[in-house]
This record gives sequence, structure tokens and C-alpha cells, in this order.
Amino acid sequence: MKTFVVSGSASGIGAATTEVLRSQGDRVITVDLRDAEVTADLSTPAGRNHAVTQVQRLTDVVHGLVPCAGLAGATGVDSALVVSVNFFGAVALARGLQPQLASAGGASVVLLASNSITGMPGWRVSVADLCLADDEPAARADAVRAESVMVYPATKAALAWWARREGTTEPWIGHGIRLNAVAPGMIDSPMTDQLLADPEIGPLLEAYPTAIGRVGRPEEVAALIAFMLSDACSLMVGSVVYADGGTDAILHPESPQGWAVQRGE
Ligand code: NAD
Repeated sequence: MKTFVVSGSASGIGAATTEVLRSQGDRVITVDLRDAEVTADLSTPAGRNHAVTQVQRLTDVVHGLVPCAGLAGATGVDSALVVSVNFFGAVALARGLQPQLASAGGASVVLLASNSITGMPGWRVSVADLCLADDEPAARADAVRAESVMVYPATKAALAWWARREGTTEPWIGHGIRLNAVAPGMIDSPMTDQLLADPEIGPLLEAYPTAIGRVGRPEEVAALIAFMLSDACSLMVGSVVYADGGTDAILHPESPQGWAVQRGE
């Protein structure tokens, strides 16, 4: 039996991930604002410290971490909060639990990116840069100058590139910890319900293309995450894996487009 930590476990992809891991006989320590073994607010340094400390009280070894807690970019949502929860909340869990992940002697962290990184034009690249510079106050200050819908992909790009950049370094793979990210497309979850009900974003989502002709289900992403956490996925380091029913392939038939395109390079 392995021990995993899943944040955002009370809903959507986090709940589905918790379920699939438990169904295979593993222990899952859940972290969320509500309905979790560890109740914590990952938007603040104090809440993140509390989450890490509580997990450490429950286990000495963590075989895998899925920092799934996240906020949508939607009308009326505070852009700074999106930065703090999506990027800094996730990275703080990984950093805080690095000793317990190292103790596993072969652990895996799967970060939640999004296909909006390549699918949505015009998002705020400066926020991603400031996240990767590890400057939360500056990233928050920059984020509030934009709508949260343009900040959300920046936080997700930062997570994806953080997994790539840090994944090859000594504190992580040097201790047997594989950092990777999954980039889902539109998934049928409460977060997507919120966006579909949004007066400005909802109508745009009606035109969202997929090759398979439907949105994804949380358990389809959870199955991929469970594989990425498993020993069967031992060669994957610093990868960003799309699971979006073909949306990115429709938008970019020849090759995925990266950060350089968003920057206009
Ligand atoms: P969801 O809204 O169903 O669940 C998010 C969970 O995060 C909730 O349980 C919520 O309580 C928790 N959370 C929010 N703020 C928190 C905080 N401050 N502290 C602790 N927990 C907090 O969302 P979902 O659709 O399951 O998305 C899960 C992850 O997958 C998110 O990171 C999201 O960005 C990402 N994602 C989702 C989609 C999608 O279409 N749903 C697509 C790509 C990526």
C-alpha cells in the first residue's frame, strides 16, 4: 500500500483521483477547504504551512502528490487569488513535502496544468514569469491588472514549465522524485459548470472544439494521473501530458505551440 496526497480532493478531478487511488488499495491523505482529512486554505502561506504540517503528522513517507486544488478564471474571480491557489499553493505543497517524497525512494508528483496554455491566445505571460521567479507578491500585483480568465492559463503554464525546469534538478529527480504535469481539456466538473454559467465565458465555451465530440470526465483524467503516479511510468520526468479529446491537435495540427508563441517570439 502506498500513501498519496491529493489536494482539491473534495470535488471534480481531485475527488476522482482520490477514488481511483483508494480503489487500487492505496492510502490517500486528502487536503481541501472542506470535506478533507486535512482542512486547509492553500491561498495563504499560513494555510499552506498548516497543510504541510498536518500531512507530516499523518505520515513520514509520501509516494505521490497531486496538487489538484485550483480556481477557475471567471467573471468576478480575484486574479490574485487564482495566482496564489493555482501556482503557489501547488508548489508549496510539493516543496513542503519534498522530504517525505524523497523518503519514498521513487516518488511522483503530478501537477495540474491545462490545455488553455496552448489553446487560449493572449494570456498574461508576465504572471507566469513572476510565478517562475517565485515572487508571489509581484505575481499577484501583476495579475490584478488583468481579468482572471487571462491569468488562469498563466498559472497553469507556470506549473507546466516548473515541472519541466525543476524536474531535472537534484532536489527532485536526484532524490527519485519525478515531476510531471497533466494538461486536461474541458472536463465535466463543478469548475466547468461555473464557467458554463458565466455570462461572458459560457457562450464562448459552447464553441469549444474536441475531436471526440464531447468534454472529458474527471475519471478519465484521474486514470492518467494514477498511471503517472505508478512505477509503470518510471521513465517520465519533466513531461507535460495532454488529455483533451484532441482539442490541441485540432488547434495545432502539426505541433504543439509553446510559451515562445505566447510571447510572440
Ligand atoms: P473543482 O472546482 O471541481 O475542484 C477544485 C477543488 O479545489 C475544490 O474541491 C475546492 O474546494 C478546492 N480549492 C479551491 N480553492 C482552494 C484553496 N484555497 N485551498 C484548498 N482547496 C481549494 O475543479 P476541477 O475541475 O476538479 O479542477 C481540478 C484541477 O484541474 C484544477 O487545478 C484545475 O485548474 C485543473 N483543470 C481543470 C479542468 C476542467 O475543465 N475542469 C481543465 C484543466 C485543468
